[in-house]
Amino acid sequence: MALTPEVLVPRIGDALVEQNLLTPEQLTKALQIQAQERARGNSLLIGQVLVEYGFISQDHLNQAVTQQILQLHGALQQANATLEQRVKDRTRELEIAYQKLSELSTLKANFVSNISHELRTPLTHIKGYCNLLIEGDFDSLQSDQQFALRVIERASEKLSRLIEDLILFSTSETSTIQVNKEVFDLVILTNRVIDQNKGNAEAKKINLSLDTHSKVVQVVSDSSKVTWVINQLVDNALKYTSPGGKVVVEIRSVNQQIEISVIDTGLGIPTEKIGEVFEPFHQLDASSTRHQGGTGLGLSLAKKIITALGSNLTVSSTLGKGSVFKFHLQQ
Ligand code: ADP
Repeated sequence: MALTPEVLVPRIGDALVEQNLLTPEQLTKALQIQAQERARGNSLLIGQVLVEYGFISQDHLNQAVTQQILQLHGALQQANATLEQRVKDRTRELEIAYQKLSELSTLKANFVSNISHELRTPLTHIKGYCNLLIEGDFDSLQSDQQFALRVIERASEKLSRLIEDLILFSTSETSTIQVNKEVFDLVILTNRVIDQNKGNAEAKKINLSLDTHSKVVQVVSDSSKVTWVINQLVDNALKYTSPGGKVVVEIRSVNQQIEISVIDTGLGIPTEKIGEVFEPFHQLDASSTRHQGGTGLGLSLAKKIITALGSNLTVSSTLGKGSVFKFHLQQ
């Protein structure tokens, strides 16, 4: 129903009938006259017709109009009070819903954290005994046994990294990320990350290199967190780039800040999906036939960490050409 004054108070003609200042027949007659006048091009209010044609006096009309204004005022106050109460009720409902959501979110994070910690212990045993077997501590092994154990060792390492990611993620969900700032050389740190990923890059025949504007680049930040993020970005770049491609970590001085870009010549990301890559547990290729492993947590964690470090992790990408992930650090 449209909100008109009639919803709150009766029309003036009906009000006059209710107050016995006018008979229903007189009102019908007055409405007919109003319609006739309108047909002749005279637009008259019903009150005007009633007075001009002598159905009621001007005084009675004024009284009725004043009464209507007062009634309307009262009705509006009532409507306002009802509206305020409804807003209060809705706000309370929203508060309760938000509280429930927060509780659920904490429950989820605690669940992930508990499960991850529980997985860590048996995995440590698997890795430990696998190592002893490979080292030949129990007996010397035939080459196919050695091979099988190496496969188990690699799979355990991978599982271990996934569990560490899960633990880091659940911690970042339940508490704020702790930042320990210090001064360090970004070039040394990046070279270390590149060295760690060299084997992987060579295996995939990808050229992995550092491109820096200076041999020494001092920054003020949390070195272990920056290491984690660059490592994550390089790992992704290598994962999503085909053999023969290139991955470059670029360090530049831009607007008195240090800009770090991880550039690859890989698959690229479709424009409409670019926002999704930072969502937790989100993988663009979620099909069961996907070639790359991973939890879909890496970029969401990297973004959280970079935000905690006071910057913003951004991405630009061209499908089929490659991607650039970028953030800034203070000098
Ligand atoms: P994952 O464990 O799947 O690598 P991430 O959070 O690190 O999880 O990345 C989320 C998704 O973003 C990946 O599944 C992939 O689809 C996409 N992605 C990340 N990095 C790149 C990149 N360098 N090139 C193309 N796609 C990428």
